[in-house]
Amino acid sequence: MEKSKKYWFYIEPYVYISLKEQEVLLLNTLDSSTEKSIDKEVIALISSIFEPKNCGVTLLNEQYLQSDKIIQFIKKTQEKYMGDIIEYQTIKQKPIQLLPYINIQNDIKPIKTNKNFVGDNLLNDLRELTLYINTKCKQSCQNCNSYYKQFRHCNKYENKNIELKIDLIKKILDSTKTSPLSQINIIGGDITRYNDLSLLIRMLKPYEEFLSYYIQYRNILNIQHKALISYKNKKQLFVCIDFPISELDINSCINVAGKGCTFSFIVKDIKEYIYAQSIIEKYSLDFYQIMPFFNNKNITFFKNNVFINESDIIEGITFEQIMLNKKINSNFWGNILVMPDGSVKSCINESVIGNIKEQSILELLNIEINKSSSMWLKTREEKPCCDCIYQHICPPLSNYEAIFNKTNLCNVIP
Ligand code: SF4
Ligand code: SF4
Repeated sequence: MEKSKKYWFYIEPYVYISLKEQEVLLLNTLDSSTEKSIDKEVIALISSIFEPKNCGVTLLNEQYLQSDKIIQFIKKTQEKYMGDIIEYQTIKQKPIQLLPYINIQNDIKPIKTNKNFVGDNLLNDLRELTLYINTKCKQSCQNCNSYYKQFRHCNKYENKNIELKIDLIKKILDSTKTSPLSQINIIGGDITRYNDLSLLIRMLKPYEEFLSYYIQYRNILNIQHKALISYKNKKQLFVCIDFPISELDINSCINVAGKGCTFSFIVKDIKEYIYAQSIIEKYSLDFYQIMPFFNNKNITFFKNNVFINESDIIEGITFEQIMLNKKINSNFWGNILVMPDGSVKSCINESVIGNIKEQSILELLNIEINKSSSMWLKTREEKPCCDCIYQHICPPLSNYEAIFNKTNLCNVIP
């Protein structure tokens, strides 16, 4: 690069640029390499790429080329295949680089700005349906009222002793027939104590490919309803196991449920995590998941093992996912939860949207998307995330943030 010449500078289209007042980050989404700078001139250079008149390409004039920091930065972008320069003499007509834009659900804005607008298309966005079918359960787990707020788990729903009636479930399934559902979850209470369980299992047969049942291991040990444990899609029968648990109970649980189920181990500390791993190895379990549980006393465990680190954030993230993170929350987008009393939520830790006994699914989805606090659209817009270069690269907010009552569950900005 010669200081006496002029150059066009551009960034490759697969590079995501995160530009904040004090810092800029370039992320090559093809190989996860990054380049950061807190230098004011570099920030100004990258800002100029976004100026509408520049159309994604900026002219490196003398002023820029006097700065060693700018020269070094440009060299690094070239080495990492993030950006390049073109000699002005060879192309005097300004080149154009298209900046990314994403269009979701045709356009969310018309729905959000017109109060009377009914977005029929919203049924096309319904991906996941979770039905809490009952509250009956003979067990008395200490954390019954907490587990389900952090991950999918049964609960007695404040001991209300109610059931989501079978005709209401039928109404829900009928009204979502046109939706591209890819996941249905059936959770209790103890689902084996649901009054019309045989009828429900028959009714759900057409959905078996993407249907999951959730049962606590204590209820597996006393299971009466063999139809569930002989469920064809064994992997989608989730058996939740918390600690302490005796070796005998583990053995019986795996024997009754069968090794083909998915075992969900709930862990509060590193000892429980190691124990869960030893069970997985000893019984050669093929399908399992580890669910960290925050009990207000294990913050260190969470900081060391659950909170996100800089290297985890960038590893493997795609350009499309970053663009989605700007517009929607993909943890909640397309999800609804129906509680045993018919009340509907988009997230277990949020207030109810309405009730399926009185409103249609379409009405409820419209209420959700038009709410200012819609979980479907909840992105990292609050401090400190909104000032962080990883704002849209970080995974979307989840139930854990609600439990901790903070948005930055990370070791980047503690
Ligand atoms: S098995 Fe589930 S519903 Fe029953 S007490 Fe335990 S957590 Fe609650
Ligand atoms: S502050 Fe927020 S956006 Fe930044 S790394 Fe932490 S969680 Fe992610």
